[in-house]
Amino acid sequence: MRKKVILLGASGNIGLQTIDIIKQQSDSFEIIGVSVGKDPGNTLLSECCFLKGQVRYICSSDVRDDLKQYYPDCEFFHGDKGLIELTSIKADLIINALQGFVGLLPTLNAIRHKTNVALANKETLVACGSIVMKEAREHGVSIIPIDSEHSAITQCLLGYDHSTVENLIITASGGSFRDLSREQLKDVTLEMALSHPNWSMGKKITIDSATMMNKGFEVIEAHWLFDIDYDHIKTILHPQSIVHSLVEFKDHAVLAQLGVSDMRMPIQFALNYPDRKGNTSESLDLIKVGSLDFRELSLERYPLLGLAYEMGRAGGIMPAVMNGANERAVRLFLQKRISFLDIEKLIFETVREAVNIEDTTVNDIIESDRWAQKHVLDLVEGSL
Ligand code: MG
Repeated sequence: MRKKVILLGASGNIGLQTIDIIKQQSDSFEIIGVSVGKDPGNTLLSECCFLKGQVRYICSSDVRDDLKQYYPDCEFFHGDKGLIELTSIKADLIINALQGFVGLLPTLNAIRHKTNVALANKETLVACGSIVMKEAREHGVSIIPIDSEHSAITQCLLGYDHSTVENLIITASGGSFRDLSREQLKDVTLEMALSHPNWSMGKKITIDSATMMNKGFEVIEAHWLFDIDYDHIKTILHPQSIVHSLVEFKDHAVLAQLGVSDMRMPIQFALNYPDRKGNTSESLDLIKVGSLDFRELSLERYPLLGLAYEMGRAGGIMPAVMNGANERAVRLFLQKRISFLDIEKLIFETVREAVNIEDTTVNDIIESDRWAQKHVLDLVEGSL
């Protein structure tokens, strides 16, 4: 029996690589539903030969009459409401490769329909980790991470209870500007920020990697996914991105997962979890790599990483506020309306204005995201 999967965010970087893997493993999976956003590459038309016949549900951000002639037998949904309709369809696995806060409600809806989720959308756990994990436990749903670091930790932990863990050690490549001082960051451009030394990823996550917000998000995600206290989640700079993360156990034995920098590995591990299958990713040649370097990740150099620990520990709405502020600030940077260093300045100013709410509801999280995004916009437009 092939596993029925629904792929959210099919036209993004992770979505396209997921389609590639499922093409190679079409004896194991069929894609019954997809969602696409703006989709400049017109994924659903270019992949029509492969997808036609298996896809039965399509959600697009806008109404797309052009798709109906290529997929005459499909049911069509649209916008945010469409993502909820799509994630209500019965499937074996939902792959959430959406970008940004919009990924939260489809994840929660999938969980409430008892569908396992392979999660590439970081914002879901950053903004709403407490509620998402509680509901996943209550509904008996697995959340399998699609992120090289969390995939590595999941692999190192296979067979071990989290009570045997001393520390999770998350590696960071350092992003596009790892060799620049804070003084040099004043003059960096959007084009420079979008050039990541190791990984080929979407624009937002590439900027998040350059500011190190991404690593802060990963710390918060790790806290929720593996139920480990923030004091026992460490981060370390590892420029080669070969060691994808490590787990130190109580007996001080350390396990690591290594591999080339290729997102197809964590994607296919999440699809087949906990089994393994061959793929076309390159084999790791350690002789060619030569040496592996590790350095301290300075919180002075990367203040957003320190802020993420602080907001994670504060809990309540604070991670959602930080996430909302970041989402808006990065969008403004991508539109060339603010400088690179303005991103962190706007996030700090916004979280300092927020008043935390404990025992949060999903509604509080949604409101906090809206408030933070608007606050950043007001700061930039000078109305505050
Ligand atoms: Mg990562």
